[in-house]
Amino acid sequence: MSKHVFRALAMGMVAMGVVMGAAFPLFVLGFGVPKSTAFSPTFIIATLVAGLVVGGLNFALASRIVRPRLRQLSSRMQQVRAAMQKATFSGDWTACNPAVCRLHEQDEDELGAVAQSYNALLHALHDAHMVEARIRDFTQTVSSKLDLHELGDQALGLLQANAHAQGGAIVLERQGEWTVLASRGLSHPEKLVENKVYFNAKDEAVQTRITLPPGVTVDAILSHFVPSDVLLTPIKNHGFVLGWVILASATPFADDVPRLMPLLMQGLGLALNNALLHDDLQRVAALDPLTGVYNRRFGFKRLEEELTRASRDHSSLSVLLLDLDHFKRVNDTYGHLSGDKVLIRTAHVCREILREGDVLMRYGGEEFVVVLPGASIQDARDVAERIRFAISQSQINLGDQLLQVTSSIGVAATSGQKAIAAEELIALADERLYKAKATGRNKVVS
Ligand code: GH3
Ligand code: MG
Ligand code: MG
Repeated sequence: MSKHVFRALAMGMVAMGVVMGAAFPLFVLGFGVPKSTAFSPTFIIATLVAGLVVGGLNFALASRIVRPRLRQLSSRMQQVRAAMQKATFSGDWTACNPAVCRLHEQDEDELGAVAQSYNALLHALHDAHMVEARIRDFTQTVSSKLDLHELGDQALGLLQANAHAQGGAIVLERQGEWTVLASRGLSHPEKLVENKVYFNAKDEAVQTRITLPPGVTVDAILSHFVPSDVLLTPIKNHGFVLGWVILASATPFADDVPRLMPLLMQGLGLALNNALLHDDLQRVAALDPLTGVYNRRFGFKRLEEELTRASRDHSSLSVLLLDLDHFKRVNDTYGHLSGDKVLIRTAHVCREILREGDVLMRYGGEEFVVVLPGASIQDARDVAERIRFAISQSQINLGDQLLQVTSSIGVAATSGQKAIAAEELIALADERLYKAKATGRNKVVS
């Protein structure tokens, strides 16, 4: 293209030189040059040659100054195009860096302006690519995580890094309750989502930015630093809000942060949905559908984990094996559904007495196992006695009558430093349960 331009320019300039050379004899008449001189062949040839030389010089100057700069612009553009084509497939964008491909902008003429526009275009392309790369990296990382808490932790770390936020949290709404999936540098972030004064966009599910004047702190954004800028972005999947990402910074966020966050949320929404489904499936697989306590398979796994931990920490561990007394009679007299009610009630009573960290599983039909990490045989006997008593006092409402049942409990504990297998420990508790049954029921044997 530039060749055509310069050929046209050369022809134009030479033609102008010739026209001016041809017109020059007429022009000099006005200055009193005699006609005979002005129209003499020598003068005409001299003026034509002068016109040609001026036209030629003009063209040479233009092409010496303008042509190299246009050539440089064109070659840089080609270089960028080739590098971009390569980088698209290789993923290595270092050759497309504006620092490498930019043009000098020192001239304030039109070519300087073209160089400036080119550099701005290069920056815009580079920025677009960087944003795309950040989204891709983020989506790739979060979508590789299935464990809900691992995902929350990883995602929050990446979001904070992307936004340069000192504090952040991911809060989820599950069964109508706010739970904190991950939090760094913020205490009680769920309170912010519940705070109607600062955050009233929950129902519309739109991004909200809270800018706090210096010196103002909000209880709901308790943090280990003083935030001045807080950004809340909804995490959606198929239009449903799964939760919110809260980012807090002591200094205002960069302009692109509020625009970048919703783009990152697309990948997070999908990954979170998968992790939530996985979590639900795991929960379903771990729980007994009737009573909601751990089933035997999962509970046994938990017992083994706790035993390993106890032996590593040289701490004690006890188990209770509980069996309802004359349960067959309950079924035979009141029906299977009433029997189920008794089982549900028994699990509830046990749960009420147990502490966080204790494990309750339905071991068989009307048998439950309780794992008490850290409990000595005396502690365990105490817990067993309280459970036995609570069950005996509990009344199950069957509509027209109240039903009461009793239970027998065998207690076993790990013995000092000696490692013991889960089966062995349960077998020991089973022996004692058998003894409790044989010696009158409604009692604890340890
Ligand atoms: P014991 O005092 O010796 O333990 O007498 P028991 O009648 O409780 O004897 P056993 O442990 O052999 O009986 C267990 C009964 O529990 C048998 C079965 O019908 C009943 N059962 C097992 N699973 C369920 C259940 O899911 N629902 C109901 N309703 N009953 C169940
Ligand atoms: Mg039984
Ligand atoms: Mg029984």
